Amino acid sequence: MPILEVAIPCPLRRRFDYLPPAGAEPHQLQPGQRLLVPFGNRRVVGLLLAVKDDSSVDTARLKPALALLDEQPTLDAELLALGQWAARYYQHPIGDCLQQMLPARLRREKPPREEPPALWRLTEAGAATAPEALKRAPQQARLLALLQRQPLVGRAELRDLGVAPGIARALCDKGLATPAGDIWQANGADASAATGHAPTLNAEQQQAVTAVADSLGRFAPFLLEGVTGSGKTEVYLRLIEQCLARGQQALVLVPEIGLTPQTLQRFQRRFSEPVTALHSGLSEGERLRGWQRARDGEARIVIGTRSAIFTPFKALGLIIVDEEHDLSYKQQDGFRYSARDLAVKRAADNHCPVLLGSATPALESLHNAERGRYQLLRLQHRAGGAKPPSVSLLDTRERALQDGLSEQVLTHIDDTLAAGNQALVFLNRRGFSPVLQCHGCGWLADCRHCDARLTVHVGRRQLRCHHCDAVEPLPSLCPQCHNPQLEYRGPGTERLEMALQRRFPQYPVRRIDRDTTSTKHAMQTLVEDVREGRPCVLVGTQMLAKGHHFPDVTTVVILDIDGGLFSADYRGAERCGQLLVQVAGRAGRADKPGRVLVQTHCPEHPVLRSLVDHGYPAFARALLAERQLMQLPPFGHAALVRADASRLDSAEQFLAALKAALGPPTPVCQAIGPLPAPMTRKAGRYRAVLLLQTERRAALHAALQRLCDAGESRRATGGLRWSVDVDPVDMY
Ligand code: ADP
Ligand code: ZN
Ligand code: ZN
Repeated sequence: MPILEVAIPCPLRRRFDYLPPAGAEPHQLQPGQRLLVPFGNRRVVGLLLAVKDDSSVDTARLKPALALLDEQPTLDAELLALGQWAARYYQHPIGDCLQQMLPARLRREKPPREEPPALWRLTEAGAATAPEALKRAPQQARLLALLQRQPLVGRAELRDLGVAPGIARALCDKGLATPAGDIWQANGADASAATGHAPTLNAEQQQAVTAVADSLGRFAPFLLEGVTGSGKTEVYLRLIEQCLARGQQALVLVPEIGLTPQTLQRFQRRFSEPVTALHSGLSEGERLRGWQRARDGEARIVIGTRSAIFTPFKALGLIIVDEEHDLSYKQQDGFRYSARDLAVKRAADNHCPVLLGSATPALESLHNAERGRYQLLRLQHRAGGAKPPSVSLLDTRERALQDGLSEQVLTHIDDTLAAGNQALVFLNRRGFSPVLQCHGCGWLADCRHCDARLTVHVGRRQLRCHHCDAVEPLPSLCPQCHNPQLEYRGPGTERLEMALQRRFPQYPVRRIDRDTTSTKHAMQTLVEDVREGRPCVLVGTQMLAKGHHFPDVTTVVILDIDGGLFSADYRGAERCGQLLVQVAGRAGRADKPGRVLVQTHCPEHPVLRSLVDHGYPAFARALLAERQLMQLPPFGHAALVRADASRLDSAEQFLAALKAALGPPTPVCQAIGPLPAPMTRKAGRYRAVLLLQTERRAALHAALQRLCDAGESRRATGGLRWSVDVDPVDMY
C-alpha cells in the first residue's frame, strides 16, 4: 500500500503520513492534490507532497485519508516545489506555506457554489441621462454617475458604493445600463478598450526595453532604477507587449496601495488582452476565477499585490515588480515571505526575465546589482520633457509653527494656488494630534494595552490607538485632575486639513489617508477630483506618496520626516530617504516645474543633506558603504525570532532557551538578545526578540534549523507565541 506524505496546515514544521483514502487507485494520486484528512479530532484539508513506499511511523498506526479532493493537482509541480523551498528558506511550517499559496476557497473542504460573476456597463440612453434625473432613486443615481466615469462596474464596486446588485438590475430595467457578462471576457471582448496611445520611447527607455526583451525566454534578473516620472510604466508596457507576442503570460506585482483603478485602467487601455487583477478587494469567487484563468493560460496579464506571486501560470514569460522597495511585499505575520525575492526565484524556475523597478531601490537590490547578480538599468531623466523638482530644506528651529506649518510654507502654498496650481502637504500621521496632555498636571493619554500614546481624532470625538485599534471617547476634562485645559501636541493630517481650510477658505482642501478612504470608491473620487486640475490643497499620509500622477501639483511640502533619522532601526535612514524621494516625486510631473519644501529641525543632518545635494542613487550608495563597514544586511544575513506572552519574562526566557540551543557563539553566527522589542507591550502582550546575524546564508539556516527544533520541542506555556522572520524588514 502506498504511503501519502501530506502537508497539514498547523504550527508544526513536520510532514504527516497517511494511507490512501478508501477507493483511491494508486494511479490517481499525484503530488499537489488536496486531501481531506483526520487530524487530531478535526478534519482538515492537506496537500499531498509525495507518494512513497514506507514510513518512519509504524504503518499499522497510520490513518487513512478521508477523501481525495482533486482529480488534477491543485498546486502544479513548480508551485509545489516553490512552496517547499519557501518553507525551508523562511523556516515556516510547510502546511501553512502551501495553504497560503491557495485562494481561500480551495483551503476549505467544500468550495461553496460559485456566484455568477457580474459586470455592468452603460447604454447609450444611460450616457445621455444626467444622474440628477434619478432624484427619487439616489442609489441608482450614484451608480449611474459611476458608470459614466468608468467603462465597467463589477460587484466589488457596487459593494464600495454601498448598493446592492438589485440597484444595477433596476438601472438595466430602465434601459440605462446593461449586463456586460463575465468580468474577464468583458475586458477582453472590449477590444476597442485598447486605444491607449503609446509615446515614442526616449533613448534610456529604449535601452532598458531592449536589454530585457533580448532576455525573454531565459532567466535574467534586472533592476530598473528610474527617477520618479521617468516612464518606468511605459517600459513595463512595452515588455509585456513583447512577452504576449511570444504567446506567454506576464505577471506584474504592485504594492498594496498601488493597485488603484487608475493603474488598472492604464494597463487595460493599452492591451486588447484581458487584464486580470488579483487583490484583497475581490470576493473569494472572483479571486478563484482569476487564479484558474491564469493557470489555464487564459489570463494573459495578471496584476496583483503580494500574494499574486503564487498565481499558477501555464506559460509565464515575464515578471515585473513595481516599486520593488515597498514594504508591503514582505508579509508581516505568519508565513513571512518576500514577494519580491520570490519573484526572482520564480523567474529562475520559469526561465524568464524579472524586472524590479523603483525610483528608490532597496539597498538589498542595489547590492545585488553591484555584485553583478542583477543587471542595472537606469532612467536618469523624467520622460516627456518634465523637469526634476527642486528640493529645499526649511529650517524650522526657533520658528513659530501654526498647527505644524511655518509661515514660509503657507506663503508658498498661497502663491501656488494663486497661480492656478495644486499643492500637496505630506505628513505620515493621521488623526488630529498624536498626543493629548493635561496642562494642569501633565497627564498623557496613553493606550491601556500598548506602550504608546493615543491619537486624537477630533471629527469622531475619539482617542484611538494606532497599534491595537483601541478606542475611547475624547475626554473634556483631565481624568486625573479634572482640569478642562487639555492640549493637543503636534499635528496629524486631520489637524492640517482644518488649519489649511481655515487659511485658504476659497479653495478645496482634500485629505487622503486611511480615515478618509476607507472604501476604494472614496479614494477614486478624491483622486479623480484632483486630476480635474482645479487649484486645491491635498493633505495626506504615504497613501499619497506612491504611484499617483497628479499633473497639476507643483508644490510638495514634507513635514516632520526627521523622526526616521533617529529611529532605532538601522534601516531608518533608508526608509526616510525613500519616502522623501517618493513624495517629492509627486511634484512637477508634467509640463509645470515642481518645487519641494522639507520642513526640518535638522537641516544639517548628513542623511538629509546627501539626499538633497546628491539625489537618491548617491545617497543609497553611501548608505551601502556604511552597512558594509558595520557588516549589516545586505552584507551578511539576519533573522529575527520574536516571542510574545502575557509576561515579558516568559517571552525572554523562551528566547534565552532557544539561544542556548544554538550552543556557544561562533564568529560566523551571532545571536543578539533576547531583548525587549522596541514597543515592548502591544495589545496587552509583552514582546521580546532574538536577532541572529551571520556572514553566510548557510550558517543562518543551520542555526535556525536548530533553533526551530528546540522551539517546537519546548512546551509553550502562558499562551506564549513565537515566530521566525528571515530577512526581516523591521524590528517590531
Ligand atoms: P514612472 O512610473 O517612472 O514614475 P510614468 O510611467 O508614470 O513614470 O511616466 C510619467 C509620465 O510620463 C506619464 O504621464 C507617461 O505617460 C509619460 N511618458 C512616459 N514615457 C514617455 C515618453 N517616452 N514620451 C513622453 N511621455 C512619456
Ligand atoms: Zn490633569
Ligand atoms: Zn494600543
